[in-house]
Amino acid sequence: MNLTYPPDADLRRLLRFSPDEGSIWLGDRRMVLLHTASLGELRRELVDSIGLDQARRVFTRMGFASGLRDAEFAKKTRGDRAIDEAFLVGPQLHMLEGAARVTPEVMEFDVAAGTFHCEFRWDDSWEAHAHREEFGAAAEASCWTLTGYASGYSSGFMGRTILCKEVVCKGCGEGYCRMVGRPADEWPEDDPIRGYFEADSLLGKIESLSQQVEALRSSLEPAALGNLIGSAPAFRRALDLLRKAAPTQVSVLLTGETGVGKERFARTLHELSERRAAPFVAVNCAALPGELIEAELFGVEKGAYTGAHAARAGRFERADGGTLFLDEVGELPLAAQAKLLRVLQEGEIERLGAEAGRKVNVRIVAATNVDLEEAVAAGRFRRDLLYRLNVYPIRIPALRERPTDIEPLARAMLQRFSALHCKRIEGIGERALQALARHGWPGNVRELENLIERGVILAAQGGRIEAEDLFPNAAEAPHASLTESGLIEAADVSAEVALCEQVMASGMTLERLESRLLEMAVASAKGNLSGAARSLGLTRPQLAYRIKRQTDPDAAAREVG
Ligand SMILES: [Zn+2]
Repeated sequence: MNLTYPPDADLRRLLRFSPDEGSIWLGDRRMVLLHTASLGELRRELVDSIGLDQARRVFTRMGFASGLRDAEFAKKTRGDRAIDEAFLVGPQLHMLEGAARVTPEVMEFDVAAGTFHCEFRWDDSWEAHAHREEFGAAAEASCWTLTGYASGYSSGFMGRTILCKEVVCKGCGEGYCRMVGRPADEWPEDDPIRGYFEADSLLGKIESLSQQVEALRSSLEPAALGNLIGSAPAFRRALDLLRKAAPTQVSVLLTGETGVGKERFARTLHELSERRAAPFVAVNCAALPGELIEAELFGVEKGAYTGAHAARAGRFERADGGTLFLDEVGELPLAAQAKLLRVLQEGEIERLGAEAGRKVNVRIVAATNVDLEEAVAAGRFRRDLLYRLNVYPIRIPALRERPTDIEPLARAMLQRFSALHCKRIEGIGERALQALARHGWPGNVRELENLIERGVILAAQGGRIEAEDLFPNAAEAPHASLTESGLIEAADVSAEVALCEQVMASGMTLERLESRLLEMAVASAKGNLSGAARSLGLTRPQLAYRIKRQTDPDAAAREVG
């Protein structure tokens, strides 16, 4: 990797002094100028009151928090540049912030593979200087915030915990400082540096243990329904259908957009059924190439084709007695569809190249995010198979159709991921919750899961998940209001108020307003009710009900009663 610094004009631009407002900014982060001498005094006070180790821990973690925040600038300002230039944002910002003169000596890392080895030299570290002023020559490395910063920055950049350690320090009388950074798990288990990065309050430890116990308990919970969180009516309806289907043998078809949790529903159905002791086997029909899928599903006899050296059981046989989950069943090639139909009709599969069929006892749960009726019309899906699969359809609602579930889901995921990543997170910040509520969730629950996991990794140990941890790049943020919160929000509200004032002044009744709105939405969607419903933030049945209420209020009322 290239160890030479690129020009830092892009970073200098981030630094803004606004003396009239009494503030200094680095990008959208407020900064403050401090005397290193006063920080030195703070260090003295802390060492005297809580001891050297605890003081060192406090400073290290403080540095870690700033490094972690600066890592966001790497992606924001040089996300489109070579990876080494993007990484050098950290040392360059560290210099701009006045920590030390930083010279990269070794830089080897691979974000995707998670490998990391860096060595940097620090000349004229403010901290080594301040430490010597207060304490004289130190026996141990004394650049606590600097190593914390390097660790926090590298961790944020890599998306995994990196710990940096000074192997030479000017505070101990050497001419300069030198630090080495490696992934946390590559440092020896008993290396004292680990301790400096951990929050040491006993309360924190107890809380993190109790969170882990809680997460373990919920993963062991026999009531499989515990994994499906949500109380929105549309979601409860889907759950109800699932619960009723569980004790029967009926084939179930799960529909819904990508990421709504179809596999989780299928697993829960399996867990609730009497087949729970037998295997649950999942197959993604879209992930297997067409020529392999039959062998994969139904198995192969030896010599069935060149390369079939040994007989092999397919997924159907492996799921015998249990449940077979066929995800994206709409992508199944027609030949495989014919065979699947046969299994459904006769309970028998035939391995590729086999003379005779063999009995299997498998419950099929199929899932699709495409409209199978349309696939039938286009000749891509067999109508008879659709009838067989569609005996008991369950539609899982999209996340945006159940906005009240977002927060409880996010909290449950936070608990799970903080246990998984051994992090203690206080919760989700107000602005982050607001951002979650406003996001459109095209990727549904899976998208939420990914965001929360990333948030847990990025958030500071013991801190909260902030909006920036969820949507690190302004461009990724769902709404402009994230970056310019106050102003844009205020504009939205005042526009709404003006609109309402206009309506009231016009003397139009609420009923009339609704009827006009419905007409306009249907007309602009060219009669497509689903499209019209979307544009009004309603579900199709909700829209249909409202239209019906407009034309025949009594019938609509009867239907509800
Ligand atoms: Zn040092």
